[in-house]
Order: sequence, then structure tokens, then C-alpha cells
Amino acid sequence: MVIIQPMEKNAKQFIGAPTFADDTLLRPSSFLHFAKCADGVLCFHALTKELLLLSPAEAALLTETHAAGDAAIRPFAEKHYFVEQAQDETKLADEFYAFLRLFVNRDEYFSAYRIFTTMDCNARCYYCYEMGRPRISMTQETAEKVVRFILRTKKEKKNGISLAWFGGEPLYNAEVINYITRRLSEERVTFASTMVTNGYLMRGENLINAKERWHLRRVQISLDGTEEVYNRSKAYIYKEGNPYRIVMENIDGLLDAGISVSIRLNVSAQNLQNLSLLIDELVARFGGKKGFFIYTHLLFDTDRKKFTGDDDAQLLQAKNMTALEEKLQANRLLGVHMLEDAHKITKCMADSPHAVIILPNGKLGKCEHYSEDHFIGDVENGITDRAQFLEFAASGKTPEMCGGCSFYPICNRLKLCPDEPLVCGKADKFLRQNRIERQMLKAYEKYKKAAK
Ligand code: SF4
Ligand code: SF4
Repeated sequence: MVIIQPMEKNAKQFIGAPTFADDTLLRPSSFLHFAKCADGVLCFHALTKELLLLSPAEAALLTETHAAGDAAIRPFAEKHYFVEQAQDETKLADEFYAFLRLFVNRDEYFSAYRIFTTMDCNARCYYCYEMGRPRISMTQETAEKVVRFILRTKKEKKNGISLAWFGGEPLYNAEVINYITRRLSEERVTFASTMVTNGYLMRGENLINAKERWHLRRVQISLDGTEEVYNRSKAYIYKEGNPYRIVMENIDGLLDAGISVSIRLNVSAQNLQNLSLLIDELVARFGGKKGFFIYTHLLFDTDRKKFTGDDDAQLLQAKNMTALEEKLQANRLLGVHMLEDAHKITKCMADSPHAVIILPNGKLGKCEHYSEDHFIGDVENGITDRAQFLEFAASGKTPEMCGGCSFYPICNRLKLCPDEPLVCGKADKFLRQNRIERQMLKAYEKYKKAAK
């Protein structure tokens, strides 16, 4: 057994080193994940965060029931790889997270602001979740109120505060970005920003401002397919020019300016082959350039809220997406998150006490999918609905669905998250399994590199 990533210190303190009578029957913990690698079998404990490299014989031990007196399992039993048959591990994980939450900093400040400059957009994507919503844009008067709100509520971290520009298409109202960043600079606020954009308007003056005034570090751009598919599905309002080529040139411009570009490939049931061709084009054009990454996102064709959990079509889509990810990984372009080595108490800005969304009309929210309701306040009065603020942090996991699930300690489902289906189906589990195995392998590669 080789320890690749040690047990997390809080877990060590909370769980301790359990002792059992020799004749107690122990079963493997339900939180174990395995991944084969060239040197053996990796085993990740989702609750303690420990990652081990095991021989095949050791890995086999961790799949069966043993008596606690069996010397071969003792080093594992001491670290919660084995538990008593009747142990309720879901409860244990809940108690542990309740303990960790006692230490969350709940001081009332914000350090991350996601600002919607407009709900309007220059594209007409068929899958846009803002379709049918009012296309309002932020005025300069509201932008000034936003600046004052930030000045009143901010706490600057080491790198200042972070701003994320969102929409609609945020560059469709670039004046507001110019205004807010100019005013914050005048007030000597340190900030860096990111943006979710279609990239069409990211050139000329916008590109210069992005680098010099907006302190833009990273943009996320969605691509739906190769030239013909992209131009058809985006359906830009402009009659002239070729949007696909324009966006490709703008990506070049961003990378040359030292701004990272993260491409989101929207994977539907129909576009697997076309996205595979697109990856070839992206590899040829941007492969090896610093700051260029690609990740995939599933666009389910069926209504997730009506999803039964046994939908084979969704599982097939998930498998197709994984095939694309493997291709990206082979070309060193896949953005793979690091394996968790500490417990993540928050999932996203919705349950983070220090992140807030500002809508074009100055209303405050917690999740980008709620732009017309579920407000928590506004830029003039701050948070006025604390109950709503707290409801965004409420868990969406249910004991019936999640009991005994190996992902339980690392699955942060939020009650109000519209991205989560009501049930957890085969596709969700498949994707989670795939992701964690990739992260385990990446952590092991990193360990080996450091050991050289
Ligand atoms: S939501 Fe799904 S993956 Fe998460 S703990 Fe529940 S059953 Fe497991
Ligand atoms: S959609 Fe879900 S993951 Fe995204 S911000 Fe909202 S709650 Fe968080």
C-alpha cells in the first residue's frame, strides 16, 4: 500500500482510529472508489479523501467482508476502509459535514460578484434557457448603484474581489463593464474578472479593454459544432460575415492577449460525430497554446424533471460525451478538476455565503437560472430576504435516493438547483464515476511527477 494522498486532517480528527473486537464482522466502506492504473489499483475514500495505490491482492481485500481480527485488513480498518455491518455511513457523513459547517466563515461580506450586464443577446440559440424572458439591459444609473453596493459589501482577498460577467451576452452591453471597472479602479479596488460569452464581439476595443481595464483572466465560450452547424444553431442577428470564423479569430486574439479560453462543447444526442470533427479542428488550430482548454456539457433532449432515472437514451448520451472527453484528454486539452483533497462545503455561488448575483435591474440573486424570481434583495437595500438566501444553501439529497451511495460525501446537490434532476439516474452515476476515476488517475500522475 502506498499513500498517494493522505487522509484529510478534519476527517482524521472526526473519525479517529476505530477499534473493534477481533470477532466483529466488518464490511468495506461504501465510500470507496477504485481505478486501475499501470502500477496497480488506486483506491479513493470519498469521506476521508485518502488516495492509496494498492496491489491487486490488497484491492481484492477491500471488496469483501472480514473479521476485524484479520491482520491483513487492520491497517485499512483503522482508517475507515472497513466499517461494522450495521454502520449508517450516510449519517456519519451528515454528522461530519455538520461539524465542518460550524467552521464556515459566515461574516456578512461578498468577495465574488456575478454581474448580468444584459439579458439581451446577439445570438438565438435554440437551447437558451433565457428564451422568452424579458431582454432588459443594465442602465448606467444602476451600474453606479452596483459600484456602491460592491464598495459597501466587499472584502478583498489576496487577489482582490472577483467579478464574473454574464448575460444574455455580456458584451452586448460592454458600456456597463467599462463603467463598473472604471469606477472600481477609481476607488482603488483590486479585482480580476471572468466572462461567459459567445465570443462574437470580443475583438477591437473590447479586446483591448478586456486586457487593460476589465482585468479579464478567463472566458468561457460555447461551441455547438463545426462551421456550418455552428452558424445554423447560433443564428446570430447579423446578416453579414461568418460568425464561426469571427469567433475563431477572436479566440486567437484572446489567447495572444494572455487571456485563458475555456471552450464548452454542448453535447446533444445528435451531434457526437460533428463535435468529434470540431475537436480535430480545434486541436489543429489551438492545440498546445497556453491557456486553452475544452470541456463538455450535456444538453439532455428529454425533460430532466420528468426523467425516471432509468433513461437509456440519456445513458447513451453520457457515454458519447465520455468518448469525446477521452479524445480531448489524448490531445491534452481536457480541463480535468483535481481530486478533492479537502472537503468542499459549498457547491457553487448559490450556497456560498460570499457570492452574489446582480441582475440588470439591480436585483440580487444566488443562482444564474433564477433571473426573474427567488431574489434575495437589491443593490440599494442589500439582502432583504435572508430566508431565501438560506434556502439556496439547502441540500437536495434525499436519504431514500442516496443511502449507501459511494458518492454521498462528494455529491453536493442543492434543493433549488435546476440543473439537478429529481431522481439520480444511470447517466448521472456513470458521469460521476467516470469523472472521479479520471481525477484519481490525474492525482497519481501528479504524485509520480513530484516523486521523480
Ligand atoms: S444524488 Fe445521486 S450521486 Fe449524489 S449521493 Fe444521491 S444517489 Fe449518489
Ligand atoms: S444552476 Fe445549480 S450549480 Fe449552477 S449556480 Fe444554480 S444552483 Fe449552482
